[in-house]
Amino acid sequence: MQNGSASILHFAFCILHSDAPPCCDIVLRSTGTRLADRESGGVFVKPVVRTFSVVGALLFLAGCGSSRGVAAGPVSLDEEWQLGYQMAAQVARQVHIVNDPLALAYLRDAGERLHVQTPVAVANRPFEFEIVDDPSVNAFSIPGGHVYVTTGLIATAGKANELAAVLAHEISHIVARRAVKEIEKQQPISVIDAILLGHDPSGLQTLVTQALPGGTLARFTRTEEKEADDKGLDLMVRANFDPHGMLDFFQRLIALQKDGSSAASRYLADHPGTQDRIDDINERIKKMTKTSGIVDEPEFQAMRAHFLNVG
Ligand SMILES: [Zn+2]
Repeated sequence: MQNGSASILHFAFCILHSDAPPCCDIVLRSTGTRLADRESGGVFVKPVVRTFSVVGALLFLAGCGSSRGVAAGPVSLDEEWQLGYQMAAQVARQVHIVNDPLALAYLRDAGERLHVQTPVAVANRPFEFEIVDDPSVNAFSIPGGHVYVTTGLIATAGKANELAAVLAHEISHIVARRAVKEIEKQQPISVIDAILLGHDPSGLQTLVTQALPGGTLARFTRTEEKEADDKGLDLMVRANFDPHGMLDFFQRLIALQKDGSSAASRYLADHPGTQDRIDDINERIKKMTKTSGIVDEPEFQAMRAHFLNVG
């Protein structure tokens, strides 16, 4: 089972544009990727930029790194994705990731159908979808396209479009980049650079702790939740999922609570205003021109049955 860190939360990000000198930006990405590759054993790290040699990159960095540190510029999209790979490797050390090929195949297929509809997919930024062994109903995301759902959430969602709703909501948080903006506010750019370069493992661990459920980076305002719901509904429709799944999932959680189940209690406690969200989702669906699509899929039901049985 997962460790005690699992409650409910997720992450949001806002799109920023790097004002760092282009040379530094590229070098930092290149160097950071290589260092992280070594640190993580290459499990989570994928190449972002591989056009510079390590020696050349370090020499280049020596010439421009200081100006970036002083400038305290925003984290670029490439850097966010690099940071995401490093954070995901750390998440895997702190929670129990489920390695079930069939379940992962479906989750990643459903997630990818949603992801390809986003602007970050157009910008060629990959997403990863993982399952956390945790009986509570939970979902969260970290920068750079990493979405996590618990076995409890999969078992609780009744139909494929309910799981798709959760994925679409989390994907929308990542596309908005709110968490990266928060990290920039909380950490000097020199600390972010050190983490990217693999020089600050404790800083990386702190970031991940803040990003996991219950952490300070994983708290959302009502406005941010509404934005993720709205964008998520749009993603669902574009990916040909029936958007009513979002409505059904929240109503299912409330029904569970009324029945005395504690499975969703933490989710609902951490998301006050759930009834308001249901009302908002209802109103938005009424205004949509297309509200039909995939409701359920046999592959989802097979995955759900599996986690119902093992849970
Ligand atoms: Zn959210």
